[in-house]
Parts: sequence; structure tokens; C-alpha cells
Amino acid sequence: MLPAFINPASSPALILSIQILIGIVWFFWIIALLWTARDANARYTRQGWFWFALFLVTMLTPFIWLPLYCVIRPIKYKWDRDGEDRLICPSCQTSHAVQVSYCGSCGYHVKKTCHHCQAANFLDVRYCHACWSRFPSSS
Ligand SMILES: [Zn+2]
Ligand SMILES: [Zn+2]
Repeated sequence: MLPAFINPASSPALILSIQILIGIVWFFWIIALLWTARDANARYTRQGWFWFALFLVTMLTPFIWLPLYCVIRPIKYKWDRDGEDRLICPSCQTSHAVQVSYCGSCGYHVKKTCHHCQAANFLDVRYCHACWSRFPSSS
């Protein structure tokens, strides 16, 4: 481990400084683990990615992991993404995948059907996404 010219027995101060160095590395490692746990929990919606991130920070050491994680992590927090890829029921505020047509919680029809082509559209659109016909302004 140590270079040959260093004789640890002859230098207690060297042993102490190596122990302090190891202590600093351990401290940094644990802080990086806690930070990754917090941050991954806020960004990943799937538990598998969360545990994968914790596994990697343990295996790769924080010195490799932290720069890597800053590149591969989702840019936005998961609650900021909610409005983009989720559909909120206007009646009961339950969040759904965008593909659903009816609210699974209260049964509200969360899409409106185009009268021309029968395509399902989001409630707040003014034109059908499929045939571009205009919805009545009342609905
Ligand atoms: Zn609902
Ligand atoms: Zn249409």
C-alpha cells in the first residue's frame, strides 16, 4: 500500500494524518450517500432508479459518482414534472396518466370527444388534435 520509503512505525504523525485522511474520505462518502438519497428521491418516480443511484454511489466512490450523477439525473424534480406528463382530474384533482379518458377516482370524463372524428382530446384545448375542427366555446 504505502511507498517503500515511508516507514509508518517511525512516524506517528504520518499514521495520524493518514487516519484523518481516511476519516475525511469516509465523511465525504456518507454525506454524498445522504445527498444522493435526498436528491434521487426528489427526481426519480421509480423506486428502482433510487436504489440504483444509492448502489452506484457506494460502489463507484463519490469522486466518480457525483459528476456522473449530475449529468444523468433528471433535470427537474418529480413534482415539477407532474403537470407535464400527468393529467389532473378537474373534479377531484387526482393525477392520472395522460392516456386515460375517465377519472379512476371519481368517474369524471377527463377527455372530451371531438364531434367530427370522435378523437379524445384534453379538456382545455380549443381545436381537435386529430382533425383540427373547433370545439364549441362553451365546453
Ligand atoms: Zn376525478
Ligand atoms: Zn376531430
